[in-house]
Amino acid sequence: MNTSRDRHPKEAKFWRSEEKRVRCQLCPHSCSITHLNRGICGVRENRENKLYSMNYGKISSVNSDPVEKKPLFHFYPGSDVFSIGSIGCTFRCLHCQNFTISMATLDELSARDVTPEEVCNMAIDNRCQGIAFTYNEPTIWHEFAYDTCKLAKERGLYTVYVSNGFIQEDPLREISTYLDAMNIDIKSFTQSFYEDICKASIQPVLDATILAHSLGIHIELTYLIIPGKNDSEEELRNFTSWCAELDVRIPIHFSRFHPDYRMEDTPPTPISTMEMAKRIGKEEGLKFIYLGNVRVPQGGDTYCPNCKTLLIKRDGFSTTVMEPRNGHCPQCGEDLYMVLSSND
Ligand code: SF4
Repeated sequence: MNTSRDRHPKEAKFWRSEEKRVRCQLCPHSCSITHLNRGICGVRENRENKLYSMNYGKISSVNSDPVEKKPLFHFYPGSDVFSIGSIGCTFRCLHCQNFTISMATLDELSARDVTPEEVCNMAIDNRCQGIAFTYNEPTIWHEFAYDTCKLAKERGLYTVYVSNGFIQEDPLREISTYLDAMNIDIKSFTQSFYEDICKASIQPVLDATILAHSLGIHIELTYLIIPGKNDSEEELRNFTSWCAELDVRIPIHFSRFHPDYRMEDTPPTPISTMEMAKRIGKEEGLKFIYLGNVRVPQGGDTYCPNCKTLLIKRDGFSTTVMEPRNGHCPQCGEDLYMVLSSND
């Protein structure tokens, strides 16, 4: 098998030369990289003082998924999305569920080479309405994601990132032209969690979330509640109050933790904590709060926040779109912050 050193990588965008180094400006780590070394994500390499994207067109994972699995509940509900992932990540989360690809290097894992055109063709052949960049962190795949999103829009497909939101302003502005939706993981609402558990920082994530929303990208947020780590009433209130200030319509997905990777000794989130988070979010004025990775009655259904009409019924990943028209409640006209396919 070829190693990534043998491949012909693509010159990266968003970097500058420094003496005998290059400075990557794709994510807020801003790695300073010497010749033949790579940044923290493991996929951007300095070769003779030029920065290269080593994972351009390298896919490790492919699937047709319900868009609800991303999770996106207010974006083309009930549609299937062609989901692809590569290798590497900007974070080092101790509880990562996809550590086999996110923590791997390009030399350890075999990845298949594809072109943007092949990805679009596969999406259409699989009767998907869009393409999702997911499984590992998509922002580090910027050059390939950009080319694929651009082509996907020309081919009538929607485009989605499932991301940790750790991206600098210029690349986010660039991809926003062709990126329709993002589910952004807010890992906690404290810097100490981001530092200790993820080896990153919170503020750039919040800044990118605000920017993505202002650029017109459809946003939904996921908050995985981990017992003893990010589950205090105060932290959940700080998080939901920040969300409400941004836009009370943005759907929030509180997700239940299950032991994984290097946090196998931490217990699953109690249902009572999930319900507390929902109650706090409602008290802060959020209109759409969902509970994920758990079966609770109506936990995934969409109701009109004004007149309480049931609009979308979800059972596992089976979705029945019942009522919304043009993104508004058919009974009372409430804005549902919802992007529907033209068939709905
Ligand atoms: S994208 Fe990778 S190389 Fe660039 S700054 Fe972030 S971690 Fe470093």
